[in-house]
Amino acid sequence: MNLWFHRISRPLVSEICQRIITDERKKLLAGNPAGSLTQLIEKISEECSQVYNRRIRGVINATGIILHTNMGRSPLAASVWQEAATVNTTYSNLEFNLQTGKRGSRGGLIPDLLSLLTKAESALVVNNNAAAVFLMLSALAGDKEVIVSRGEQIQIGGGFRIPDILALSGCRLVEVGTTNITTTEDYLNAVSPDTAMALSVHPSNFVIAGFTAKPTISDLSSNLPEGVILAVDQGSGVTTEQISGETPIIRHIQDGADLVCFSGDKVLGGPQSGIIVGKKKLIEKMSSHPLMRIFRPGKTILSLLEEFLIRKLNKEETGHTELILNLPEKELKSKAQKILRGLNRECFSIVPATMLAGGGSSPLKSLASWAIKISLNRKATDILKQLREYDPPIIGIINEDSVHLNTATLFPEDTAHIRNALKSLLSGNKP
Ligand SMILES: *Cc1c(COP(=O)(O)O)cnc(C)c1O
Repeated sequence: MNLWFHRISRPLVSEICQRIITDERKKLLAGNPAGSLTQLIEKISEECSQVYNRRIRGVINATGIILHTNMGRSPLAASVWQEAATVNTTYSNLEFNLQTGKRGSRGGLIPDLLSLLTKAESALVVNNNAAAVFLMLSALAGDKEVIVSRGEQIQIGGGFRIPDILALSGCRLVEVGTTNITTTEDYLNAVSPDTAMALSVHPSNFVIAGFTAKPTISDLSSNLPEGVILAVDQGSGVTTEQISGETPIIRHIQDGADLVCFSGDKVLGGPQSGIIVGKKKLIEKMSSHPLMRIFRPGKTILSLLEEFLIRKLNKEETGHTELILNLPEKELKSKAQKILRGLNRECFSIVPATMLAGGGSSPLKSLASWAIKISLNRKATDILKQLREYDPPIIGIINEDSVHLNTATLFPEDTAHIRNALKSLLSGNKP
């Protein structure tokens, strides 16, 4: 039981024990035969283990989807985590100016580092990119009009719909163009004295292909009137990474976007956050908006992001997505070979696969990878479930009725676990 105390807390274990013992008592009173003590303990352990599965725990991502929102998107480098520990386990100058001895601004060097990374005048960090979009709209467009193309009125993940967010912020949505074609003229014709902003949203989880057109950011920037803010929800946070089809933040800034917002935990590879970069005056206006008090991240996020950005600028650390996208295909295959060494090759084979950036970062980006295909006389869903019951849980995918474990997203220390899990699958294999 000590293990379960440690894993889910003593009171939770106690609650489970009481519930199961009460159930047993009822069964006895109803005239059923008594089970053994071992059976009772087994039942309790099983229940504890189910509760433990609801706890936030490390898992092995064998899906080949690098940025999986359900699996915490981008893992942080251990070195970044360790370096930020001090700030989090002592008092810090989070909002204290060491120069003046007075209250200072939150965020340390982060705005400076982000400016260096994106060539923007200034920067601001909030809890996530959804908050970043909402803050831009609320603080800068208030009850005014915001122009959005009909091809970009999208839903990202659960419950984040651009038209709804706009309505919630109090802005009036002015739709322009059509699903597939929107022109610069469409935007210009929609401009009125009440227009505060034109918002361009990166369609990060789908593609419109075929007969399509939309103006570039530089078209919009050079044609929109001075007073209309040009904001881009870039989403994925591509800065120095080479990802085909993705426009880096720097490019948007150079092309004349006034503001660009993106997630800190997608391609960038930092902790969960929303980052807004752009014109100093606009960033200042958002910083002093009351919503900022609601959206500001805590010291944990800020210290991690600051450390990550320093290492990224020093080229000592690479974002997780970039790291994986640059892995040589040969290495991915040899990972699979290493896992399978000496194991039955009729049950486990190495097959070509693809990896995806995922997580609403780049809908088309798929690169070659390798996977272990599991061929046992058992239902694929049962095999997936058994792999999830392993400690640490292993998350695979089903491809044409077989379970595949993609090697792209595996950490070096995962290989031994997968090997053991495959061995235990084999021993329970009913031909
Ligand atoms: C991912 C994404 C968001 C939401 O970002 P979160 O950090 O999950 O809040 C918003 N807009 C775009 C274009 C995105 O890709």
